[in-house]
Amino acid sequence: MARIPRELIPWYPTVNTDLCTGDRACFDFCRNDVFAWDEETGRPIVKNPYSCVLGCDACAQVCPAGAIAFPTQEELKATVRRLREELAV
Ligand code: SF4
Repeated sequence: MARIPRELIPWYPTVNTDLCTGDRACFDFCRNDVFAWDEETGRPIVKNPYSCVLGCDACAQVCPAGAIAFPTQEELKATVRRLREELAV
């Protein structure tokens, strides 16, 4: 069965660097190599956004500063629905 290319689905964390305190909780938590650590700024970088597991927002939940945002689950579902129709997969 054909699949939607992961790169077409905008599901990944966005870090608000104004709120981030640089505690590394997200970087230490994620096992999928989504984050890199920027030693210069002392903040995470979303290095591999498409390694993020679809629907997973666990790093946002471990962030005590509320600095990580994701699309909503409803937006994700709507995107997948639209792409399925457009790509006929
Ligand atoms: S968990 Fe939140 S506050 Fe900590 S480094 Fe990541 S984004 Fe910044």
